[in-house]
Amino acid sequence: MTRSTPHSASLLTRMRVFCGLLFGLRKHDFRAAATWINTMYPGVSPVGRLVKFLRWSLWQMWWEIPDALCTATFAPDVSRTPIWLADGNPLENHPWGIDAKARLPERVQVVVIGAGFTGGALAYHWSRRAAADPEMTMAVLEMGEAASGSSGRNEGLVVMGRYCHMVEQTVLKHLPAVRPDLSEPDRRQLARQFAVAYCRAAYRNGDLIEETIRREAFECDYARQGWVQARDADQQTALAESVRTALETGLTDWTSVNPAEVLRCTGMRVEHNAGFSIAAASFHPAKWVWALLKMAIQSQKVKFYSRTRVQKVERVGEEYRVHTTRGVIQTRHVVNATESYTPLLHPQFHDRILPTQTQAASGNGGPAEMQPHVGISGTRGFFGKHGDKVMVGSDATRVPDHEAGRIQPSRFITKFLLGEMRRYFGDSRYHITHEWSGTVSYTPDEYPVVGVMDGHRQHIIAGMAGSGTGVSFNAGRCLVNRILGLMDEPDDYPPEYFAPTRLLDPRNHLWPELKSD
Ligand SMILES: Cc1cc2nc3c(=O)[nH]c(=O)nc-3n(C[C@H](O)[C@H](O)[C@H](O)COP(=O)(O)OP(=O)(O)OC[C@H]3O[C@@H](n4cnc5c(N)ncnc54)[C@H](O)[C@@H]3O)c2cc1C
Repeated sequence: MTRSTPHSASLLTRMRVFCGLLFGLRKHDFRAAATWINTMYPGVSPVGRLVKFLRWSLWQMWWEIPDALCTATFAPDVSRTPIWLADGNPLENHPWGIDAKARLPERVQVVVIGAGFTGGALAYHWSRRAAADPEMTMAVLEMGEAASGSSGRNEGLVVMGRYCHMVEQTVLKHLPAVRPDLSEPDRRQLARQFAVAYCRAAYRNGDLIEETIRREAFECDYARQGWVQARDADQQTALAESVRTALETGLTDWTSVNPAEVLRCTGMRVEHNAGFSIAAASFHPAKWVWALLKMAIQSQKVKFYSRTRVQKVERVGEEYRVHTTRGVIQTRHVVNATESYTPLLHPQFHDRILPTQTQAASGNGGPAEMQPHVGISGTRGFFGKHGDKVMVGSDATRVPDHEAGRIQPSRFITKFLLGEMRRYFGDSRYHITHEWSGTVSYTPDEYPVVGVMDGHRQHIIAGMAGSGTGVSFNAGRCLVNRILGLMDEPDDYPPEYFAPTRLLDPRNHLWPELKSD
């Protein structure tokens, strides 16, 4: 493989780019900077982190970004439409666009709020498992369009969830706050149990997605070629430990690959071993959601209403009244598939489900060496090739609840990502045409919630920590089975691990028994 001589910006260009970056800083750039300062230098004092970060940012602004901008350009009117939604939406304005007389039903068995991965999964499983009986209808209500939330704005990877060691670490960090009664070794044991429960469910999730795409012949550009995650020199010990945990627990999707294998799989040049999720896949995320919903609607057991915002859910005796911008629906069950938007509808989740902004950009050109259909993450950003488009993305910064779903990408971050892409792939001509952001949600222990949230019949699936494909489909299956009282399939989301009481009322949450092995 040959590489052209790297481009280097002139002094004048450096000064122009530097000033442009400095004076172009916006509110979100400062918020994102705070996130990066807190996460980039583990174990360093706050002042030390600040100093290191400032030095690093000046280096980026003076060297890396100006050099990258020698070969990268932005369209004069960069679109804010995510690339996945750029060619239109087959369920746009459904059903109102095709049936001017359509009305919301007065009564259904289940109302699902939100039509992304999670709402689509619930609809699909309901259509397969519920009886063909008008009394058993599910209504899916979406305030925007199907897949207009994060599900239509992401990187397009079907992940095998977060790897075991990562889940163990995030849960362990949080446990002293909610289980002060446990000794340190017991907390470690509990964190390990949480991680194993999460990964087992996630592995089944990945396999179910593949089975479903094949069985139903969904056309959503699915390919299963894994996900490579670069690691720097100072992250090698942690990588080795994470692979050891995978071997110990038998959750061996997570492994490591050497730089030659990284180059072969992805086209990315690294100097150190990278993490590798073997069974991760890539797909067109919005086509996946639309395919699930279309199949569900065809069954007649599911009705889908876009452009219908839920304003309030009110419990009345054994039922619920769901108040929407188009009227009220009476229902026996409610499922919130609202991810980062949840605290707006249910304020009790404020500070428990944390809207967190991530962004991406896409354009023409990019590195010829970059391989398609494989997940590619650098240490601070992700890259992907989809057809003739190359995508770059990054960020995980908490935003206020009311900013959930806003499209407000940082141009600074996009330019930084151009430098990162150059670092891994070398120079390439790249013309950015689309740039957008979305909000995912994190819980304080970065562990999802799947289950009943009010002690009655209102459920939630949320807090998927940016790994929605690793949770939503299997969790949707399990919730549908619970609502229907079906016990013929395994339930991978036991309440002791996943019930929302873990966040809402940890003292009275029924925590899992500690296993002695
Ligand atoms: C840039 C980026 C890259 C990512 N990359 C990946 C990846 O590669 N793989 C992966 O697995 N995950 C990825 N994620 C995360 C993934 O997209 C999410 O985890 C997933 O989309 C969550 O699905 P969801 O259906 O639960 O939520 P959403 O897709 O956010 O859907 C929630 C829906 O609820 C609707 N809604 C909210 N409130 C109301 C209301 N009151 N009334 C009616 N409707 C309402 C919203 O309009 C929205 O459509 C990424 C996210 C981003 C932003």
